[in-house]
Amino acid sequence: MKAEDYRELEETWGAHNYHPLPVVISKAKGVWVWDVDGKKYIDMLSSYSAINQGHLNKRIVNAAKKQLDRVSLTSRAFSNDRMGPFLKKLCEVSGMEMALPMNTGAEAVETSIKLARRYAHTKRGVPEDQGEIVVCENNFHGRTTTIISFSSDPDSKKGFGPFTPGFRTIPYNDVGAFQKAINRNTIGIMVEPIQGEAGINVPSPGYLKALRKVCDEKGVLLILDEIQTGFCRTGKMFAFEHEGIKPDILCVGKALGGGLYPVSACLSSKEIMSVFTPGSHGSTFGGNPLACAIAEESLNVLLDEKLADRSKEMGEYFVSRIKEIKTEKIKQIRYKGLLIGVEFHLGPNDTVRPICEKLMASGVLAKDTHEKTIRFAPPLVITKQEIDWAIERIRPIFETA
Ligand SMILES: *Cc1c(COP(=O)(O)O)cnc(C)c1O
Repeated sequence: MKAEDYRELEETWGAHNYHPLPVVISKAKGVWVWDVDGKKYIDMLSSYSAINQGHLNKRIVNAAKKQLDRVSLTSRAFSNDRMGPFLKKLCEVSGMEMALPMNTGAEAVETSIKLARRYAHTKRGVPEDQGEIVVCENNFHGRTTTIISFSSDPDSKKGFGPFTPGFRTIPYNDVGAFQKAINRNTIGIMVEPIQGEAGINVPSPGYLKALRKVCDEKGVLLILDEIQTGFCRTGKMFAFEHEGIKPDILCVGKALGGGLYPVSACLSSKEIMSVFTPGSHGSTFGGNPLACAIAEESLNVLLDEKLADRSKEMGEYFVSRIKEIKTEKIKQIRYKGLLIGVEFHLGPNDTVRPICEKLMASGVLAKDTHEKTIRFAPPLVITKQEIDWAIERIRPIFETA
């Protein structure tokens, strides 16, 4: 079969809830992927930062293979010998006290909402059904009916109501707005350290620190969604480390599964997590031994290969090389580590999609985020030579954009 045949099958039999670039991938290794015709591309998306350790990282694949000779699924009706060691490691790496394992990012966010609500209701005296979680404009926290209830993106919401109440939206990067939004029913604020899907929105330095201070003063929870920014993507293990603070509740996912498997978690303190009791929350696949074996090795790779430092160094290098490109079309470059957004000057109805299609044709896979911005977020194992390979192809396309 040819590429068009695969795409036709996908279009005929699959719901059209995505608009992929027309490339059909059949093989991958490190930062590289190959299409069904054998053409090579550099992956500048890493599946939205789920492949920080590189495609089919040898150590993580081996950990999975080894576990597949032992046991894959037990459910939480029984204990297994992989979950405890993995959760201990995850807590040590993040500086949190307890973890609740789930599968997808959206489930980790849902878990954090339930956790924050129950904690506020049972320990802080917020009346049940009246609590409010503050969220930010242009947030992206996932796709469940509750999560889209507090999205500000009309495409994510249209036709999907009725929506879950209990959320209050404020502008991103605005500490004053948060202060003003707090009342006696406020549970806390849920926020992304950098807004990925909104176009790599990097807030002012000190933003998280200031939120932390307000939360402490008012006795409300700081809930960070590090599903995209976590696991070395921004040059630290977690983006909150840039500001020397810690959240009360932390959502992680994506690269926790090393690009092999969906693994997510909600982390918090012993005190907060104690509101979950048997029967109050769960997941059939959450914490399964295969997931735990993969995730533990995914963490080991991040640590042993010092991918946080690498992300910082390669991010600086990548951005310096993009800045060398002579074009008036680039409006702004926003980045931290290897989470890079390049925003273009375009007409009101134009998007960067045609640029992404040209990049694809020349062997660079990158995707638009929020219409006018291209995201460059390669696997963190990328080398200078590989960045140079990409820049050679990006330069002529940006120059003529
Ligand atoms: C991807 C993402 C999610 C949702 O994760 P899924 O695994 O797709 O459910 C939530 N929050 C952020 C910040 C994300 O980038």
